[in-house]
Parts: sequence; C-alpha cells; structure tokens
Amino acid sequence: MLVLAVSNDEFVIKRVGVVRFINEIRRDAMFEVKGYQVYQMDAANRPVIRVPDNTAVVFHTLDCYGGQITENSAMLDTLDWKRINPAAGPVYVEGAMPGDVLKIYVENIVVGKQGVMAAIPGNGVLGNLIQIPKVRIMPVEHGRIRFNDNISIPCDPMIGVIGVAPKEGAIPCGIPGSHGGNMDNAKIKKGSILYLPVFHKGALLSIGDVHASMGDGEIMVTGVEIPARVAVYVEILKDCCVETPMLEDASHLYTIASHEDLEQAVILATRAMNQVIQRQLGLSLEDAGMLMSAAGDLQFCQVVDPKQTVRFAMSKTILPSLF
Ligand code: CA
Ligand code: CA
Repeated sequence: MLVLAVSNDEFVIKRVGVVRFINEIRRDAMFEVKGYQVYQMDAANRPVIRVPDNTAVVFHTLDCYGGQITENSAMLDTLDWKRINPAAGPVYVEGAMPGDVLKIYVENIVVGKQGVMAAIPGNGVLGNLIQIPKVRIMPVEHGRIRFNDNISIPCDPMIGVIGVAPKEGAIPCGIPGSHGGNMDNAKIKKGSILYLPVFHKGALLSIGDVHASMGDGEIMVTGVEIPARVAVYVEILKDCCVETPMLEDASHLYTIASHEDLEQAVILATRAMNQVIQRQLGLSLEDAGMLMSAAGDLQFCQVVDPKQTVRFAMSKTILPSLF
C-alpha cells in the first residue's frame, strides 16, 4: 500500500471553467497512487488506498501498452498482451455506498515526454485496409505532439479509461459500460466533471489509458497513447443517482452510454438525456425530445472497442444542470 503526500509543484491545482470554483487544494489533503495496476474492474480487487470523501488523488498511469513500446521499430507481435490496458488503482472512497454517485473533478493531466500510436491489421475502422502493422512514436514538446517531421498537433490530454467496480463480475479495462471503463471520451479532460454510479462500497475508482490527443471515434483504436499523472478530486453525492455515466464541462452536459451495438448505444444515451431534460426542465418526453432534436448533439466517443460509446450533449445555456 502506498499513501504519499504529493510534493510536486506541477500539481498546484485550480478548478477552472466548471460550476464550482475552489482555491488550491491543500497538499496534505492529497493522495497518490503509483505502481499499482489492475487489468479488470472488479469489486474483488483489493483497494490500493482508502481516501476520505472530498479528496484530491493523483493517479500515475501507464500507457495502454503498459509502456512496452518505446521505439518505431517495436514489433507488435512480441507484446505481452496480458499487460495491455492497465488502470491505476483501485481507490476506495470512504463512505461511498451502492446507489450513490461518485463525482470526479478532473483537475489536471500531465503527460509524459512521448506518445505512441499503432495501425494494426483488422483493428479499427480502416483495419481491413491495413496490411502491415505499424507503430509510430510521437514526442511531446512545448504543448505540441510531433506527428512527423512536417506535422504537429496540439497536446490536448484526455482520459480513456476511468471507472468504478461494476455491478456484477469483472470487466476488463478495455471494455466500457455503465461503470465507466474504456469510454474513450475525448471530453473527459482537465476541467470536466464525471459522474459515475457507485455499485459497491468504496466505489473502487481506477484510471488509465490517457491520450495526449484523441479524435472523436478513435478510428484506429489508439489515441496518442501516453503515460501520465492525473489529478482528480472525488466527492460522494448521496441525494441523486445515475444509471449510466454523465459528464459536464464549462459549456455542456453529457449523457454517456456504451453497447455492443452502436445503434443501441445511441438510443441509451439519447433516452438518458431525455429523462434528465424531462426532470430538470419539467418537459414532457415529446417536448424534451424536440428540444434535443433542435439543439442537442449526438456525438461519437469511440466506435472501435468491444462496446461502442456515444454521448449526447446539451448546452448549459439550455439545460443548466444534470441534477
Ligand atoms: Ca481506450
Ligand atoms: Ca488508448
């Protein structure tokens, strides 16, 4: 077990651009998870640390390959696939009980010095066209990702895997669901707030699979995979519940749903937002649906994992709050 106060000035944490604004979180209120990985989310996983409600925690995450790819000549067929998709954790949040909601403020994401992407035959939307596997190492410097000698893109870190122990059984970290997991939602980034259902005592939060950048859809099954330190602030909500993950950022509220069938994921995310709008704005199902059709956005998170993930976005100028 590892419980350390954080003494790194990179994590001077300020909450910006979200509903609530607080000052710097005191260092002695912080915990760190380093060197502990899980490969499936499971109520049977032994917690790495126990933290109180209303606490900041820093997760040290490996990239989705477990750090096994460090150069362009890496051979994918020699990878140890048992080390794919690790998540740091799990963290037991004292007081979290089944039926509660775990509110997770993403305070900061500091990524490593280089990321990696891969193109693998059979994988992703273009997989049928790919003959030979290819990996590409991408240095990250001065807030830019060097894609190649001519192209650089902004470093815009997001969290691929974030979840709690699922309601039943063990779910590999590569699979998303109502517990969160591998949602690969590019909106889960610094300044956003994720709401996850709590199914088991302590919630058992784990985080991994940070991307220095990822486009909606994640068409090649990889973002710019990179190790990171992720600072979150966790809070337990006792007076509300969610059945599927929800998210907010400075401008929008989102419902998130995952399913083996993309069309079913679309229906689930849309129904979840419809219910939020009915409750919060006092509209009928039909009127809430028309409002969504007029001013809401259905968006892909990823279309390449064993379950695909979509989100439904509504502007806060129309729908001020989820609860
Ligand atoms: Ca992922
Ligand atoms: Ca990934």
